Parts: sequence; C-alpha cells; structure tokens
Amino acid sequence: MLPIILLYIFIFFFGSVVGSFLNVLIYRIPKHEDFVVVRSHCMNCGYQLGWTDLIPIFSWIALGGKCRKCKTRLSVQYPTIEALNGALYVLITVRYGLSIESLLYCFLFSALIALSVIDFRTYEIPIGFNIFILTLGLVRVATDYTDWLQYLIGFLVVSVPLLILYYATGGRGIGGGDVKLMAVCGLLIGWKLILLSLGLGCIIGSIIHVIRMKASKADRVLAMGPYLSVGIMIATLWGESMINWYLRLSGLG
Ligand SMILES: [Zn+2]
Repeated sequence: MLPIILLYIFIFFFGSVVGSFLNVLIYRIPKHEDFVVVRSHCMNCGYQLGWTDLIPIFSWIALGGKCRKCKTRLSVQYPTIEALNGALYVLITVRYGLSIESLLYCFLFSALIALSVIDFRTYEIPIGFNIFILTLGLVRVATDYTDWLQYLIGFLVVSVPLLILYYATGGRGIGGGDVKLMAVCGLLIGWKLILLSLGLGCIIGSIIHVIRMKASKADRVLAMGPYLSVGIMIATLWGESMINWYLRLSGLG
C-alpha cells in the first residue's frame, strides 16, 4: 500500500511541476513571448524568480501569494493550475496504470488545461496545441495500430459535422479551433469517447453559460474550448464505464 501512495505523491508532484510550466505557456503564448529561454519573472517588477520561488504550490503559499520583492499579489491561478494538473495526473494513473496510455493522456490533459485558459481569455486556441495533440494521436495509432480504424473514425466523426456547422453559420456557431481540437482529440481517444466528449461538453457548456449570463451579464460569445476540454477529460477518465452503464440500462449490453 505504502509504495502505491508514494508513487501517487511523486506523480502529483511531477504533475504540479508540469503545471507551473503550463502557467508560463498560458501567460506568454498570447503575448507571443518566448517561453523557453526567458527566465520566470514577476510580471510587475521583473524580479527573476530563484529556485526557492519555483517549487509548485508551496512557494505560492510560503510567499502568501505575493512577489518576494515588490509584494504585488500573485494570481491564485498559479497554484490552482499546478494542483489541478498534479491531481489529474494521479487520476489518469489510477485509471490507466503505468502505461503508454497514461503518458499520452497526461500530455493531453496538460494541453487541454493550457488551451482552455487561453481560449477562455482570448477566444482562440493557438494552433500549436492542436499540432501537439495531433502528434499524440499519431503516436497512439502507431502503438495500437490493430485498432487504427476506431481512431480514424474518431478523427472524423465529430469534426466533420462541426466543420459543416462552421461553414453553415459562417464561423459563428463554432470556432475553427474547436473543430480542429475535436479532430485531433478524436484521433487520440477514438470515436466512442470523442462522441461522448461532445455530448458532455455541450451539456456542461449550456448549463455554465446560462448561469454566467444570468449572474454577470457575461458576453454572448461562448468560448467552447474549456467545455469541450472538460468533456474530453471526463470521457477519457470515466467514459468507458459511463457507456457500459448506459448500455446495461437500455438493455443493449
Ligand atoms: Zn515583483
């Protein structure tokens, strides 16, 4: 039991380290800043962060959520993204064990977190994320090539109808980035799970959007990326059992 718990703690910590890199991507990609060479720095005073400021979650708490030098508030987004990415890595490992699937899904979930925050703020999914997920999908097909057909169908089954919707509504019904996202994610997770993702994403999106518009008169423009991403994550983690449960319920399984 103990080794398992230690393994999960290690995976959580590793996930939170990747999470702090996601924070860097989230802030720098929309500004077209270099995200590899430039050292992490305070957005306000430019103070370059030392290694003691870079320990995920703990540094933020130890500093009381403020910059060490100028005491500007550091967004709660930093520790939130770090903890979220760590927790999702643990859930993936619980579900898929130590496997190539887990590795691909960890990369996928991290990309989904970063692109969701960026899409929520800018209404755009940077193309780099879709290319990254496409690469994961190709690795998936290569490592599970006997099942290639279900991934190919996954690539098309949601994206083609969405593409038709995109042209029919002149891009107002759905964004081009969302169409590409559902294509590449479908290639990675297969047709059953991507269909489920779309269903979940639409339900979650409608509910949250109605609440947001009622509560804060939020703009009518709907960034779909975050909702689709949540749908994809739920489908990837629990979709198989959800589908089996539904089939049993309807007497088909
Ligand atoms: Zn500062």
